[in-house]
Amino acid sequence: MGSGSFIAGKYRIAQRIQTALALIYPPRCMGCGDLTESDFGLCGPCWRETPFIGGTVCESCGMPLIGGQDGFRTECDDCLKTARPWRAGRAALLYDGKARSLILALKHGDRPELARPAAQWMAQAGRPLLRPDVVIAPVPLHWSRLLKRRYNQSALLAQNLGRETGLECVPDLLIRKKKTQVLDGKTAAERAQILEDAICLHPRNARHLIGRDILLVDDVMTSGATLAACTRVCQAAGANHIFVLALARVAKDA
Ligand SMILES: [Zn+2]
Ligand SMILES: [Zn+2]
Repeated sequence: MGSGSFIAGKYRIAQRIQTALALIYPPRCMGCGDLTESDFGLCGPCWRETPFIGGTVCESCGMPLIGGQDGFRTECDDCLKTARPWRAGRAALLYDGKARSLILALKHGDRPELARPAAQWMAQAGRPLLRPDVVIAPVPLHWSRLLKRRYNQSALLAQNLGRETGLECVPDLLIRKKKTQVLDGKTAAERAQILEDAICLHPRNARHLIGRDILLVDDVMTSGATLAACTRVCQAAGANHIFVLALARVAKDA
């Protein structure tokens, strides 16, 4: 028996194991647990209830916009009002409906397996930002929160995105050295400073950053203040262009 047919035989065995596993563990919908056609997917009803972002979007945050591209840079009202320090941003979902429950399950429900399909959606939405030499880095979480949740959901998304796209991912490029204090009652400038003081570059990772483009990954973008703080830290350390990619964007009136 030649090595070709030996490999083919091995492949057939692997296929049979796969089929047997599918019979024991049939693929289930990530949203509701119903049976689906493929692993890590959503069933029809869950798919329809998940607000994927498409069409014309804000160049800075990925929010869907009404109206078509006019050849100029398109931005939402939020980004026109609060200038973003990063170059461009995208989000895969609106933080609403089924998207909200999927993200809460990823964040607090101990369901890290959701990061894989989520990263695939992010790769799709973030395609215009995925330059060949970009370094993917997550928004950091303070260690005390990490203990409570066991994992940083943004780091998990970043790692899965790296695997999905073949791009370099540095999960601890940034670290959160201080727990962020309560920001209520502070001005926008004070909040920005507090956030920026809490985040720093991991000393070991400085070489990953100088002159490189960075893609910052977060699970949810609300005001964008944390992403802005991370952007400024990267810029101060000598990074080139910064891009941001969130799994979901909170609409202002949500
Ligand atoms: Zn479902
Ligand atoms: Zn925007």
